[in-house]
This record gives sequence, C-alpha cells and structure tokens, in this order.
Amino acid sequence: MLWTKLFIPTLRQTPAEAEVASHQLLLRAGYIRQLSAGIYSYLFLAQRSLRKIQTIVREEMEAIGAQEIFLPALHPAEIWRESGRWDTMGENMFRLKDRFQRDLCLGMTHEEIITVLARGELRSYKQLPQIWYQIQTKFRDEARPKSGLLRLRQFLMKDSYSFDLDQAGLDTAYDKHYQAYRRILDRCGLDYLAVEAHSGAMGGSQSMEFVVVSEAGEDLVAFCKGCGYAANLEKAISQPSMPEVEDPAGDLEPERFSTPGQKTIADVAAFTGLPASSQMKSLVLVADGRPVLVMLRGDHQLSEPKFAAVTGDPEFRPAHADEIREWLGAEAGSLGPVGVTNMPILADRALAGRRNMITGANENDYHLRHVTLGEDFEAELHDLRLAAVQDECVHCGRVLEIRKALEIGHIFKLGCKYSESLGLRVLNADGTEIAPIMGSYGIGIERVLSAAVELHHDQDGMVLPPSIAPFDVVVTPANNADEAQSRAAQSIYEACVDQGLDALLDDRDERPGVKFKDADLIGVPYRITVGKKLTNGMVELVERRKRRTTDLPVKEAALTVAGLASGGEGLTAPA
Ligand SMILES: [Zn+2]
Repeated sequence: MLWTKLFIPTLRQTPAEAEVASHQLLLRAGYIRQLSAGIYSYLFLAQRSLRKIQTIVREEMEAIGAQEIFLPALHPAEIWRESGRWDTMGENMFRLKDRFQRDLCLGMTHEEIITVLARGELRSYKQLPQIWYQIQTKFRDEARPKSGLLRLRQFLMKDSYSFDLDQAGLDTAYDKHYQAYRRILDRCGLDYLAVEAHSGAMGGSQSMEFVVVSEAGEDLVAFCKGCGYAANLEKAISQPSMPEVEDPAGDLEPERFSTPGQKTIADVAAFTGLPASSQMKSLVLVADGRPVLVMLRGDHQLSEPKFAAVTGDPEFRPAHADEIREWLGAEAGSLGPVGVTNMPILADRALAGRRNMITGANENDYHLRHVTLGEDFEAELHDLRLAAVQDECVHCGRVLEIRKALEIGHIFKLGCKYSESLGLRVLNADGTEIAPIMGSYGIGIERVLSAAVELHHDQDGMVLPPSIAPFDVVVTPANNADEAQSRAAQSIYEACVDQGLDALLDDRDERPGVKFKDADLIGVPYRITVGKKLTNGMVELVERRKRRTTDLPVKEAALTVAGLASGGEGLTAPA
C-alpha cells in the first residue's frame, strides 16, 4: 500500500488526556480516536492490528475444535432474570427499553444467551462435547472509563463456552483452552503470567487469569520467581513475614490501657511504640444478614473474595457505625474480640501462634495489651488476608513479588450453574436427564494490542511484535523526488509483496526525518531505506526492536525481511 493513499493521522505532541503509554501512543500513531469516554473509533492501523490478533485467536480456537458462531448483542431481560443476574450485574449493565416498554440489555457476557441457545438444540449425550465461540462486541457501563483501550465501555471479546457430560470432560475443555490461550499470547508476542483467580460474578469452581505485568494494570498479582507459583493477589496464599518485634513471652492477662483519640493502627503504633504487626485489627462485617467479627494482623488487609468464600456470601458488607455501637458497645478504632459472644469470630491464620498482642477493648479510647488467640478469645481460623509485601512463597520460601498487572484473558469452570438455572438438559446414555457441565473462556482483543504496546515501546513509539503489527515492513525512499531512489523503492516494495509481506511504501514528499519518525511511531518492525548508498547498489535495513541498521544489496532486501519476519534469528522474542 502507498502511504500517500492512506489516512494515518500521526500527532507530534502527546495528547494531554492520555496517561498510560498505550493510550498516548495509540492516539499519537493515528490508531484510535475517542468518540466519548470509554468509546473509541479504530482507524485503519488499529483495525489491521486487531484483525491480525483475531486471526491468531480464530486459528488457535479452531485448533482445539471450537466452532465459531455469532450471538446477538441485544438481549431480552427475561433471560437474564432466569439466571438471576439481571439484578446482580447492577450498574455495570447497559439497560434499555424497546417501543413496547420491554426491558432489554446490551450483552456484557454471553453465558445466558449461549445456554438458552443450547437448551433449544442439544438433546442427547451423543451431541456432547461442544465448544462454541464468537468474537463479539461487549458493553459495560464502567464507572470510570479511562486509559485508552484498557477500560472501555464497548470492546471486542473472544468468548467461548464448553458443554460436557461430566467433570472429566470439563477438565479437558478447560485444559484445551489453557493451552490455546498460551499459544495465542505467545504468538502475539506477550510476556504473560497464568495466575490462579477467583471466579467472582461468574460462579464456578476454578478459574485462571492470563495477565501481563504492567504499571498500567489495575489488578495486583503475586508470583514467585523461585517455583513459578502465581495468583491474583486476592486469591494468593503466602507465608506472612515475621512480626517486626517479638511478642512478649508468658501467660499474661489482658490489660486495659487508655488510648485517648488513638483510632487507627498507625495511631496506636505511634502511641505504644509497637508496630502494626504487634496489633490485631478488628473488622465487623455483615454476611447473610448476620454480623461477623474478623481479626487480622494490624499490617494485613482483608481479601474480600476469601471472606466471601468462607461465608458463602459474595454480597457481604461492612457494618454501619450505629450497628457496631449497638453490637460491641464502642466505635470502630476501639474494637476487639475479648468478651464478644454475640457474633462469630473469624481470625486470619497469621494470628495463630502469636501471643500477647494489642487490640481494642470494646470501650471508646481504650485498648487491651497481652491478648492471645485461643486463650483470651476463641475464633475460627481461616486464610482471610491479602498476600503482603515481604510475604514468602508457601511452596519454596522465596519472597513473593507483588506487581500490578493487566488482565488479558480469563478461563472459568462454571459447573452447572447456568445449565441448571436456565433448564438445559440432555438425555444420558441410560435415559436419565442431566444438566451439562459448562466452562466459559474470554480473551480481550483490544487488551492484547494495548498490552503489546505497554510491553513494547520506546521514546520514539511502538515496537509491535511482527505478528500483530499493521505492516511487516515499510520501504522508504529518502528522497522520493530522486527518480532512481523512487524507482528502486517501488521495485523493492513489489518484491516484498511478492514475498507475502504486508508492505507499505512511504511515497510521501516529506523530509527523510519525518518519514523515519512516523515509521518508528506506528511500530512497523522493519524499514528498508533507499538512500544515497543506492549508487553502490545498497539499501539500509533497520530493525525497529533492536535499533540495528544493516546495509544490504538491493536484490536481497525483500528476501531478508521475509526471513526475519517469519521468525528467523529470534526476532519475535520480546525485548
Ligand atoms: Zn515459590
């Protein structure tokens, strides 16, 4: 293609509204333009990249026997009411009414729709297993859309769904997706982690996220460089770091002491001279309509999904100030477990074995010292905390890394939640009716592009992996007005096309510096520059990622790029 015939609106300045690198560069390189918060138009270059990503996704889905379908984005409310998620999806769901005042929504996921399709069609065990997938536009009414293509209100997703007769079948479908996702992300040139995750609003028994470690991400992950253990922070298990100060020894009785105005863990640490890790933190939560007192080490944070899993109530809430006063006789900041009999007490395992700690006295402006779990109060022990900085891997003892990450894909074992609630049944071999067991698997198409830019860019622009770059190579005559350069560039360009490369000819009458800057910005992996060396029969090959320049004979240029682009010399490896 000829640059002069294309619309590639590159910008010299970084747009002020863009904070993360992918947002800045996708705008500057003329890939995207914003229509409204979280809603973008994809221009020519973005569309080419996104189509390459989709092609990779389709090839790998078809390699595991998944069949492409296409479901509606506009859904009647009744189907979502049947599964119960019309109410639980809350404000994230775009809702509308038709001319007859019937409720509809725009699909944010398709478990309900695929299950309704299947219940009308699947009758017999002989028809299973099935894996159906689509690449579809999803809608989510984000409270704070931001960061370019990272948190969108309208986005593309590949979602697939598996139907099996039994758990072993589901395990196979899940593993096939796990392997397919690894191949997809490898081929797209992403360095990623597969991390254990909570199932959240999907329900189900097991799930895993595919994430890219990046400061632009909003998830937190914990991972071990020693043994490879990796989990979403909310799910991660860890060995807590040692308390900074050793506990006082001996069978000491709880002792009340005055702490006027000292409400937070930090206040009490400053007041007593003992660090947060010598204190116990008390949280009053309401699960299934009943109060629960949760005890954590002072420097630890509650993992909400772990608490939800223990209590079985994902809708739990913090107690209100007046409830706390009524139940415990004091305000938050002076709460503790000693003498509490009107609610169950759950304690995090990091408190096991600790002695003589500080906690609230359930009396405003008083605390207790010398409080020991199992002696001064009883509690059910569970793993309830978020892994913290300096925590160690439970498998190998190495200190865990805790980093921000971008979620790219998520795979779930759903179980029978949707087949049961929506009435999908098939006849088994023995003539009995069973609810097929399902899995759900998603991968964000724009997320792959954004993550690739976050991982692979420099001060001059994007350094996209060749597999997803909009073009493989740009051929640039330094001076397009020079007849010989222009003619040689044209013939090299044609030779590149003949080699099967996605080639771009920069035939603009611009200064060479402007053309080189644009080529660097839009992230084309290879540039062939036709300049003064042409008089010696030579051109320059510039490899964007390595910033390496090599002189080549004119006749070898196209073949050399074809060899590099097909994966020769390890050029597809991340920088
Ligand atoms: Zn480890």
